[in-house]
Amino acid sequence: MSEDNLNNPGVQIPLEMKGQVAITSLDKVYNWARSNSMWPMMFGLACCAIEMICTAASRYDLARFGMEVMRPSPRQADVMIVSGTVTKKMIPQIVRLYNQMAEPKYVIAMGACASGGGPFKEGYNVVPGVDKFIPVDVYIAGCPPTPQGLMHGLITLQKKIEQESIPNTRWYRKDPVPDIPVPVLGPDLFDPRKVNLIYTETHRPAPEALTSQGEEAQNG
Ligand code: SF4
Repeated sequence: MSEDNLNNPGVQIPLEMKGQVAITSLDKVYNWARSNSMWPMMFGLACCAIEMICTAASRYDLARFGMEVMRPSPRQADVMIVSGTVTKKMIPQIVRLYNQMAEPKYVIAMGACASGGGPFKEGYNVVPGVDKFIPVDVYIAGCPPTPQGLMHGLITLQKKIEQESIPNTRWYRKDPVPDIPVPVLGPDLFDPRKVNLIYTETHRPAPEALTSQGEEAQNG
């Protein structure tokens, strides 16, 4: 904001304060501070993780964005970079880690596998996208995405954070944000959120039963 904009005949700015005072909104300062100190969680799932490791090395230097502090604990991390194929065996752990992260927290789906299953989408053991279970903020295309691609995703996340407003953020609501039910891996993956749908589908009469019931009704 220029000094002219600040000039208000009703408010005299003392000479010694001119050039020393900046006026901005609380949202802007809050978002600026947070978006420039995002600490990613240190975990990887498959080949995309190698590219993530490269991004943290000196050639790309994530420290320029305040993101170089990879945390080995979800309690200290702000952003989960899902880097690799999400298998049915791993998704319970991923959801549990997501629940253990403190708000505000963000998720980046890095690469084709994390975004939608990638080349293994039809695999019997693969979850076709981590967003089937946890909310994703930024998707990064590629198999694998380059370190530049990941950096672009992180900068996109920064821009998204800069648009947030304190009164509307979910972590300042009065009601607690509920945890995501951890899926259970049995003979196949069981999503507790779909229990009603599963119950309805598994208790629906088989087509043959419906046909025989219809015939019995016709025969009286
Ligand atoms: S998107 Fe490609 S590089 Fe990344 S984990 Fe999947 S197969 Fe590997």
